[in-house]
Amino acid sequence: HLQLSKTGQRLSGHSGIVELMDDLGTALAGAAGTNLRMLGGGNPAHVPEVQAVWRERLQAIVNDTKFCDRMLANYDGPAGNPRFRESFAASLREIYGWDVGPDNIAITNGGQTAFFFLFTLLAGDMPDGTFRKVLLPIVPEYIGYSDQQVTEGIFQSYRPRIDHLDKHSFKYRIDFDALEVTDSTAAICVSRPTNPTGNVLTDEEVAHLATLAAEREIPLIIDNAYGEPYPAAVFEPIQPVWNPGMVMSFSLSKLGLPGTRTGIVLADEEIASRIRTMTGIVGLANNNIGQAMVEPMLRSGQLLQLSREVIRPYYQAKSQLAQQMIARHFGDDFPYLVHRSEGAFFLWLWFPELPIATRELYARLKERGVLIVPGEYFFFGQDDLSDWPHSRQCIRMTFSQAEEVVDSGIQIIADELRKLHG
Ligand code: PLP
Repeated sequence: HLQLSKTGQRLSGHSGIVELMDDLGTALAGAAGTNLRMLGGGNPAHVPEVQAVWRERLQAIVNDTKFCDRMLANYDGPAGNPRFRESFAASLREIYGWDVGPDNIAITNGGQTAFFFLFTLLAGDMPDGTFRKVLLPIVPEYIGYSDQQVTEGIFQSYRPRIDHLDKHSFKYRIDFDALEVTDSTAAICVSRPTNPTGNVLTDEEVAHLATLAAEREIPLIIDNAYGEPYPAAVFEPIQPVWNPGMVMSFSLSKLGLPGTRTGIVLADEEIASRIRTMTGIVGLANNNIGQAMVEPMLRSGQLLQLSREVIRPYYQAKSQLAQQMIARHFGDDFPYLVHRSEGAFFLWLWFPELPIATRELYARLKERGVLIVPGEYFFFGQDDLSDWPHSRQCIRMTFSQAEEVVDSGIQIIADELRKLHG
């Protein structure tokens, strides 16, 4: 039978999240799929005004025969399209005053690939025989990182402090007393806003992390997949900061273009250049269609306007509506808390007296036609979670779906929870 390398086994073997995503996909494709309320996935909403812009942009490209032929028939250089990189850097200079240029930018086939490259570059076995890990200041954190390990065991995560804001809401904060940044820390990494919780680390927390990273001369990596300036699914006023030594990743996916697979890494020139080489080795070049669609909108400011004036208010309204539905359907029938919704596309619900693990809750809800994501998957980078029931009491649900779908989904979740709490 097929002989597999250790790395091969790890990257192609069991993955909790791949299994779950397969399961979600199968459920949706099945006979009952049309009646399923999909509150599980990470797809952006189909925002009509935004989709119209993407169709227009594609049409404009198709109408420009020469440009279109070049786009389709030529490989981009592995760093990405030079014009796009310059326009992206220029937009960051203009919006934030950051001192960055095209050599600080490397394009990847999606943010997901960017993280695989970054973790592989920085963490694992070092030439001096030591082993370095990526520090995740808070779990729950983005599940997509967890299996991106060419060498096993590259994550070291920490539990947050839990701030109870009122009876039904809470917020995670970094427990700086617990954090240990050492010689074997490769980098510090956070998603902001965080998938799955919708948490947005405060500017103070980010500044504190940046100081810790700078003291050790290691990168602070900030994942802006939902963040500023694009798509700006951030509901709190924040002041993003980039300084030399930091790495930021951006993506066109949550703007409604996940199909174009476009990730953007902002970093010191050395890291940007190494990412470029990794793209060349692994995939020759990137998909160039998303870059071509978006580039003129960077220059004109249309992308910023779309993000701030359409996308942000759209998701913020969706979030508020979903929270009202939760208050209405859950009532005071059982204990629950919702993480303060500060960004991204999700609500993170905590049931502190849940009598079963959320994996089982997931299965029961699926039976009843509602798909959510059990929270357990987002707690990784720790050896032993058995003394932390919180890690088995949370679920993630997206609010990006149609209003009736979210409403009836929440109603069924409420009904199941009432039964469970007897
Ligand atoms: N980072 C976060 C926090 C995400 O939620 C996602 C996608 O869901 C990604 C990165 C990767 O997205 P993409 O590869 O489509 O850019």
